[in-house]
Amino acid sequence: MSSAMLHATLPASSSAEQWSSRASPWMHASQSKVLRGMHAGVQRHILSLRVAPIFENSMRHTFMDAIRSRRKVGLSRVSMEPSPAVTSEVISRSDWNRVAIVLEELRRKCDTPADELLCVLIDGMVEEMKAGLAVEGGSKDYKMILTYVDKLPSGKERGHFYALDLGGTNFRVLRVHFGGKESQMKDQEYQEVSIPAELMLGQHEELFDFIAGKLAEFVSKETDAYHPLPGRKRELGFTFSFPIKQTSIDAGTLIKWTKGFAVEGTAGKDVVQALNEAMEKRGLDMVVTALVNDTVGTLAVASLATQKQDDEVMISVILGTGTNACYVESIDAIPKWEGPKPSSGKMIISMEWGGFSSSFLPRTQYDEALDAASVNPGEQIYEKLLSGMYLGDVVRRVLLRLAEEAALFGPTVPSKLLVPFILGTPHVSAMHQDESSDLQVVGKILGNVLGIDETSLELRKLVVDICSIVAKRAARLAGAGIVGILKKIGRDGTKQDSSATQNKRTVVAMDGGLYEHYPWFRAELKAAVAELLGSEVAKNVVIELSKDGSGIGAALLAAAHSRYGLFPFKYANMRA
Ligand code: ADP
Ligand code: MG
Repeated sequence: MSSAMLHATLPASSSAEQWSSRASPWMHASQSKVLRGMHAGVQRHILSLRVAPIFENSMRHTFMDAIRSRRKVGLSRVSMEPSPAVTSEVISRSDWNRVAIVLEELRRKCDTPADELLCVLIDGMVEEMKAGLAVEGGSKDYKMILTYVDKLPSGKERGHFYALDLGGTNFRVLRVHFGGKESQMKDQEYQEVSIPAELMLGQHEELFDFIAGKLAEFVSKETDAYHPLPGRKRELGFTFSFPIKQTSIDAGTLIKWTKGFAVEGTAGKDVVQALNEAMEKRGLDMVVTALVNDTVGTLAVASLATQKQDDEVMISVILGTGTNACYVESIDAIPKWEGPKPSSGKMIISMEWGGFSSSFLPRTQYDEALDAASVNPGEQIYEKLLSGMYLGDVVRRVLLRLAEEAALFGPTVPSKLLVPFILGTPHVSAMHQDESSDLQVVGKILGNVLGIDETSLELRKLVVDICSIVAKRAARLAGAGIVGILKKIGRDGTKQDSSATQNKRTVVAMDGGLYEHYPWFRAELKAAVAELLGSEVAKNVVIELSKDGSGIGAALLAAAHSRYGLFPFKYANMRA
């Protein structure tokens, strides 16, 4: 198979687009490196890191899917032996024709034209937002959760506060020292703990006991300087990044688990009460004073950073293992709000935007199979198209089909390709942003992760192309989501009486591993927002990384909602 043959079968646009769009240098950043590089000058302690879990259920499904689909196309050899190194062999012309057909179908189905598709989705999003704000459960897609955070931190917060960040495969415990107006965050210390896979699918009490145990471990290492005054407790901001129904700043019940968690017995329970009880059982003098979402924490951190400017932080978006967004809504636009109106006239709304679903969403057979094999089929459809947990697996599924239908990796299907989630989104971004002329990174990942050795350059280019298509769709859908919120709050440039906001910059605070570590994705997302808004309006919309809302932001909100005012600790003992 020569390169000339490949280009004869693939449309000219495929590789041209992929190469020209690779503007950013490839940044290989392993999670541990990134964590080490974060917050320079700040103390920290990392216990352990872990990669995404593999879910047995979905493995079984996918294996059966794979067997079924092989039957359908009449292939007989399925290798389920522990993977020997597979070598990509010479592929016949007819198989490359098949590859081209599958690739073009993928490209067509993942296409996201602004006018014909994204604008339609945006209108649908705005309608769902309104419905979700009107009455509880008014939207089947967006929960539009009232966060009970009606103002962002003042910057005067002072003292030591704790945060617990639970929302992905790891959780973190932090202690942050805020120094008031002059010196905001003085230092922080944290531990990162991986959540054993069996706890993610286990019992409610076990999970909270495990967390309380780790909190106790963290606190036990502290010196006397951190002990609260007699009769007082350490105060904790609890970032719980799953859909919850919040009933006050420190109470909320889980609606459903997402992102691969399926813990029994939590749905309908107050997660703050569960954690407080588990801490009390351990004899830990700590209490949750703010239950926040990572999006809200991100908004809080970003608002501190922009306090001196004429910017308004209105939106925050997380693109990590999962995805969500929150934004500042006018209380008058929230008919379902029943309490007295907050003096700020505002309320932060956590949308749970991963739940958006629409028949217009550009889904493929790979997305449908991924959804069917997931722990929450039919749910979080938007999230499954664009968050870090899933992009790698969509790419794997495309490669699997090509292996089965076009013998892309030789006569035998590489057994590792059958393993759900074996290919992670970090692999996708590393392959996609491979700058080497012979795509060495792609070769290495295919070899090391999928056991496919000695691949041709044409094949590696094809893999990059698939990554590009899947990532582009994700980035543009995320961009559309942001424009949906801008439209809802009248910041998309279409509002007539926009004099008050005309010259204000609207800040969209972004966080999450996918956004942070995938420069191409970031650029594509921003390009989509600019395309949708038009260049004039886009100038006033600043999309920027705002790190660690789920940690520092949560501690900040715990401080803002302290039971003891501004100085909850023995101030004399505090490090200056
Ligand atoms: P969480 O969402 O679990 O709180 P993060 O915000 O750190 O955690 O996001 C982790 C997710 O980010 C991972 O699941 C992965 O999908 C994605 N990610 C991490 N590193 C990269 C990378 N280099 N490129 C693309 N995505 C990445
Ligand atoms: Mg997170």
